[in-house]
Amino acid sequence: MPINTEKYTQILAERHDKATLVAVSKTKPIEDIKALYDLGQRDFGENYVQELVDKYEQLPKDIRWHFIGHLQSNKIKYIAPFVHLIQGVDSLNLLKEINKQALKNNRLINCLLQVHIAQEETKFGFDSNELRQLPELDHFPNANICGLMGMASFTNNEDLIRKEFKHLFQLFSSLKQSNTVFANCQLPIASFGMSSDYKIAIQEGSNMVRIGSLLFGERN
Ligand SMILES: *Cc1c(COP(=O)(O)O)cnc(C)c1O
Repeated sequence: MPINTEKYTQILAERHDKATLVAVSKTKPIEDIKALYDLGQRDFGENYVQELVDKYEQLPKDIRWHFIGHLQSNKIKYIAPFVHLIQGVDSLNLLKEINKQALKNNRLINCLLQVHIAQEETKFGFDSNELRQLPELDHFPNANICGLMGMASFTNNEDLIRKEFKHLFQLFSSLKQSNTVFANCQLPIASFGMSSDYKIAIQEGSNMVRIGSLLFGERN
């Protein structure tokens, strides 16, 4: 399935340079990623560790790989040498393990804390109370927290989606102001918005959208 270059250009225009576009390429072949790469795209997102490692090995090394899936701590070591941003860090234990692997690789790994904003039970992440009560995070100096990521409920109800995004952005803003959590990041990241809701997300302050099916076609 060819990539949708028209959509790609359209999304780039719609974000008004305010939001980074992460092209979510999970389950899609190398050729499709290469085609988007040739148009200038450099940020790509993947959900599965083995698939990410395979693609990393085969594709140009200036790609910034985002891990956006649910990460198991015993698999961090495979992506730690090269991953650009681990989105969806959903526990302090995971953060601790990322810190350990980052140290082993003598690098800093940037991370986003995943916030549970949807009504569904199935989505991983911290809730707002847990976030407000985060302990001092400076014991994990190599796991650098750069912002928040979240997913709205899977619904056609735009009001609900907007409400959930507002909630996330408000949390993001208050953590940013408190100036402790994202202290080591020049540009803190609020990653929200996918194919179905990225327009609402950008209106509500997202500065990183993760878009798959609009660019690469539906997944099986
Ligand atoms: C798959 C996925 C996306 C992209 O979803 P689309 O609806 O195809 O745009 C974004 N974020 C996360 C966390 C995902 O797992």
